[in-house]
Amino acid sequence: MTNGWVLPEEVLRDAPTYTPRPHELADLELIMSGAYAPLTGFLHRADLTSLARRGRLADGTSWPVPVTLEVPPSVVDQLDISNPLRRVLVLADAEGAPVAAVDVTESWPTRDGMVGVGGRVRRIGDGGHGAFRRLRRHPAEIRELLPPGRVLGVFIDQPLHRPQLAQLAHAARTLAGHLLVLIPVGAPSADGLSAEALVRCVLAARDRMPPATIIAVPLAAHGDEIRDALLRARVAGAYGVTHLLATGASMLSGGGPRVLVPRELAYDSRDGQWRSRDDIPPRHRRLPLHPAEISDLLDRGAPLPEWHTPPAVARELIRSRPPRRQRGLVVFFTGLSGSGKSTIARGVTEALLESGERGVTLLDGDVVRRHLSAGLGFSARDRDANVRRIGWVAAEVARHGGLAVCCPIAPYDAARQAARDFARSTGAGFVLVWVATPLAECERRDRKGLYAKARAGQLTGMTGIDDPYETPGDADLVLDTSHLTPSEAIGLVLRHLGGNGWIEPRQPAATPAEV
Ligand code: ADP
Repeated sequence: MTNGWVLPEEVLRDAPTYTPRPHELADLELIMSGAYAPLTGFLHRADLTSLARRGRLADGTSWPVPVTLEVPPSVVDQLDISNPLRRVLVLADAEGAPVAAVDVTESWPTRDGMVGVGGRVRRIGDGGHGAFRRLRRHPAEIRELLPPGRVLGVFIDQPLHRPQLAQLAHAARTLAGHLLVLIPVGAPSADGLSAEALVRCVLAARDRMPPATIIAVPLAAHGDEIRDALLRARVAGAYGVTHLLATGASMLSGGGPRVLVPRELAYDSRDGQWRSRDDIPPRHRRLPLHPAEISDLLDRGAPLPEWHTPPAVARELIRSRPPRRQRGLVVFFTGLSGSGKSTIARGVTEALLESGERGVTLLDGDVVRRHLSAGLGFSARDRDANVRRIGWVAAEVARHGGLAVCCPIAPYDAARQAARDFARSTGAGFVLVWVATPLAECERRDRKGLYAKARAGQLTGMTGIDDPYETPGDADLVLDTSHLTPSEAIGLVLRHLGGNGWIEPRQPAATPAEV
């Protein structure tokens, strides 16, 4: 898409480069592919105001969601918006390769000290890369490919089991239309399945679908269920979809393709067919499994029943979500200095090393500060960076099936959330252990002499003294060590992990005499 916009080579060369956040990159790709037609760029302020007020852009075009780009002020400072040759911003992908240029014609301050920028975009570079790139087709290409007549679109957020496959087949047959499967790959799915794993699961069901065209669309949620459903309908329409099969929230079309609501099916044990629930006598009727039931089977390593899930789909699912005993896990201890994090984390790590059941990496607060976070201090910003680094490395350990044990103080909720999100985005588990030993007890122990220094005013920014500790509301396990021995505390953590299937179940701690 050129928009008739001439972009001299030297303008590009001198332009600042910025890597947007993942959801902005996803929007960018959809703008450039034409899936967001008629949008040709990031929205201006007048569009956003108009959108909030009446669901239309400033020129009256109906459009469901704000499609915005926010950049740090230092990036905008390098532009001169009044000069068309000096207002080009190059956008790069996560690896730093340029993918687009924005002709920034407006900028305005937003919350969090960022700056919103509006302007048309144009593709530059080689069109990007990424897994399953071949499925990321442009709407114009797909419209060319589709047979004439009705096109049944369906967004597939979750792996297809037999009931969903039967619904698809039934809807395509009833409509006598071609099936277009759109897999949203803008973000990991709700149950932690990566976009690639979701694509693999859908492809594994391919030979059980009616003839279908399968594409991946980097569509991420914009945080409003209704507007997101309207956006999906819009994007489906751009790809040539005439009828959209509703799945969950996507029941609205907003004047786009017509929405079909699928029939509720059940398994008929008399002949092994899926048909309308009401057509099956209750004693022969088996209802589809809930996502939570499927998750539970996967967590425990129990087989997915064949009447419900085609074996090829089950194989892919099990590869992506192995039983908890083999799945990556981050055990994240948080609490005041001296609360007992390191002592317990070390004990847990040693117990696992002794049993040999899992590969373990211990990311101890002090050791991390000497290596991974060398040079960082104890300002709010540096503390935040330290916890995020630990969370990122822990998630990488867990991505490969390892168990990472971390024990930074992690006083801020936002950084702990970031660590949880890192882990979840790799499909791993995350267990937050709050070592909630009261300040008075930590101060009485004062193992490192830090509290005394802080009270004497020789040390500032001490968590619990003159820096806040935000108590977690989302801890999976809370331990107050003032009434526990270290081995009791270690035993409680091991039992929690065992009880939830992450490690082999533990017997109640043996007393030394029994060993
Ligand atoms: P942190 O890592 O939270 O700064 P440390 O583990 O380094 O804390 O220090 C905790 C201190 O408290 C150690 O001296 C440890 O022996 C003592 N302690 C007493 N009871 C316990 C318990 N139940 N769990 C952990 N530590 C305990």
